[in-house]
Amino acid sequence: MLTGVHLLLTYACNFECDHCFLYCGPQAEGTFALGQLEAVLDHVERIGSVEIVYFEGGEPFLYYPLMVQGIRMARERGFEAGIVTNCYWATTEEDARLWLAPLASLGIADLSVSDDEFHHGSEADNPAKRAVRAARRLGIPTDAISIDQPTVGVGIEKGQERGRPVIGGGAMFRGRAADKLVEGLPTRPWRELTECPYEDLRDPGRVHLDPYGHVFLCQGLSMGNMSLRPLPELLEEYDAESHPICGPLLEGGPALLADRYGVEPEEEYVDECHLCYSTRLALLERFPQYLAPRQVYGLD
Ligand code: SF4
Ligand code: SF4
Repeated sequence: MLTGVHLLLTYACNFECDHCFLYCGPQAEGTFALGQLEAVLDHVERIGSVEIVYFEGGEPFLYYPLMVQGIRMARERGFEAGIVTNCYWATTEEDARLWLAPLASLGIADLSVSDDEFHHGSEADNPAKRAVRAARRLGIPTDAISIDQPTVGVGIEKGQERGRPVIGGGAMFRGRAADKLVEGLPTRPWRELTECPYEDLRDPGRVHLDPYGHVFLCQGLSMGNMSLRPLPELLEEYDAESHPICGPLLEGGPALLADRYGVEPEEEYVDECHLCYSTRLALLERFPQYLAPRQVYGLD
């Protein structure tokens, strides 16, 4: 049951992180317009089960008035509201308070801040920490997201084959991360990658909506386009098994996806997402309705 909707308010970002799975950056295009945001929130309300709407990107604070108005509209419709931000705007704690006070008065349920070396280097005090301090003083619940350079350890976790290399750091090998971060990491034969480990493709609890109308089950993997079919109907009619990409992924993971459509993979991949993303990239022209937008795959 869908309980969370994540609005990719914009693909634009002041950063251009290597681990970004949406290929966001200063040149990235695509931002919600106000009227579009209002219409989408009306449709989200019609779904009936959604509890929280997140505003993220890209960097949603780059479109601050739009974000604030979007949150206001979401709150008026009875949704909890969350934000994901890199905190570039938290020049000092006092300045951060200026940005956050109007949000506190709207009643934000979660401010998720990126606090890691990818975004802020290794300084002890950084914009994320300043934003968290200001948010706490205003009574805004906060949460930190931390992604580091991939590390390699040895498998000891439950269910893992003892001795198998485990990649830490938290990066997901999709989008720019799949192009920039995989070099030198341990790999596995592609035929072993037989499930999607992270997304519930059959019954998603959350979807991401982008400014082009895509309804993402995973970055760049669309259920359909809400500018062609209203979101409540799209969700109602969605059948994972008959979706040309989700069907094979559910049946046999990224390995079957490649097999099913005759994509010839390399011998080995870092993980399931790495093979899935690479296979989807090879299938873009064949399934433009479901594998989109091209910019999320690093293409013009
Ligand atoms: S990971 Fe976040 S901060 Fe970095 S480029 Fe992507 S959206 Fe921007
Ligand atoms: S396997 Fe594919 S669909 Fe599943 S989380 Fe990874 S990239 Fe997304």
